[in-house]
Amino acid sequence: MRAFKFTPSSEPEAAVKAVKANSEAKFIAGGTNLIDLMKEGIEGPSELVDISRLNLTQIRSTSTGISIGSLAKNSDTANHPLVRRDFPMLTQAILSGATAQIRNMATNGGNIAQRTRCPYFYEVSVNCNKRRPGSGCSSLEGYNRNHSIFGFSDKCAAVNPSDMSVALAALDASVNVLGADGKTRVIKFNDFHRLPGDTPQRDNNLEHGELITSIEIPKSNFAPHSYYLKVGDRASHSFALVSVAAALELDGGKIKQARIAMGGVAPKPWRAYAAEKFLAGKTPSEENFSAAADSEMKAAIPLEHNGFKIELGKRAIVLALKRAAAGNA
Ligand SMILES: Cc1cc2nc3c(=O)[nH]c(=O)nc-3n(C[C@H](O)[C@H](O)[C@H](O)COP(=O)(O)OP(=O)(O)OC[C@H]3O[C@@H](n4cnc5c(N)ncnc54)[C@H](O)[C@@H]3O)c2cc1C
Repeated sequence: MRAFKFTPSSEPEAAVKAVKANSEAKFIAGGTNLIDLMKEGIEGPSELVDISRLNLTQIRSTSTGISIGSLAKNSDTANHPLVRRDFPMLTQAILSGATAQIRNMATNGGNIAQRTRCPYFYEVSVNCNKRRPGSGCSSLEGYNRNHSIFGFSDKCAAVNPSDMSVALAALDASVNVLGADGKTRVIKFNDFHRLPGDTPQRDNNLEHGELITSIEIPKSNFAPHSYYLKVGDRASHSFALVSVAAALELDGGKIKQARIAMGGVAPKPWRAYAAEKFLAGKTPSEENFSAAADSEMKAAIPLEHNGFKIELGKRAIVLALKRAAAGNA
């Protein structure tokens, strides 16, 4: 591991300034992703600015919904009464990830900014455009069973690993960030993560030194009919092969509004807009769920080893919608 300077910080502004001043500095929160990457030689910051003691841990209701601090732990967020009551799908998504011990360390900001689990990203002896821009993508010609079927480019097909982000995408969350100039800005969740295009080394739209301060989720009527379904190779310690966050607002036996996002299928949480559009105004039946899933998955482009994700994705959408419709309370 490369030697690094450790800079504790007690104020968000000071943390932002410290990272901004050093192009090789990074924030460290729970460290459950970054330290692994440093040990493997994938990341080598010359300075770690410790944000774990910043006072950004509040989870509170606001006039527009709920605000969750970027440094609240994943476990505290999942188990918070407001989250459980108003956004149970977020609780399910967080609890489907990692292990209790990791969730006790991991923070919300770190979760949404965690890096891909593509094995070629982790294996430093092979080419990877995300790790070493311009070197090539080993997954496109390699064993790409876990890779994207939507949104990838000829530079990178890695998927985003965060379960929490899939629920946040479906819930139309937004991310508050503090910049080096002391100004704050709001990034809509669906604009937070990036598709790889020609710059796969950039996972999200944060500028160097920008600190995530909170995640805001707007009020909605989805709580009684929402569900997070995760399909992986194992029931625990496993990232999603395919996951689906499905939320329905039902009114008079019809679907007033549907929200669906998928994980494990794209470089960012994938909003299933075609399926959502199909379901608006329809009855919540298996036949309609199946047609909605078909309408979304027909745009998928399989790589050599991940064609199974298309059928798996359809079935996962249908099952998540059925469970959401049945009510998860
Ligand atoms: C064995 C194992 C299994 C796992 N399984 C899953 C799983 O199934 N599903 C899942 O979703 N996740 C899983 N994870 C990942 C885990 O959720 C993340 O490691 C964790 O959420 C990262 O949070 P952290 O606070 O530890 O981030 P850190 O490791 O501290 O930081 C991660 C990145 O985020 C940046 N960062 C952190 N906070 C901020 C901030 N406030 N503003 C700007 N940038 C910031 C850091 O600079 C760094 O680049 C697993 C991890 C392990 C080790």
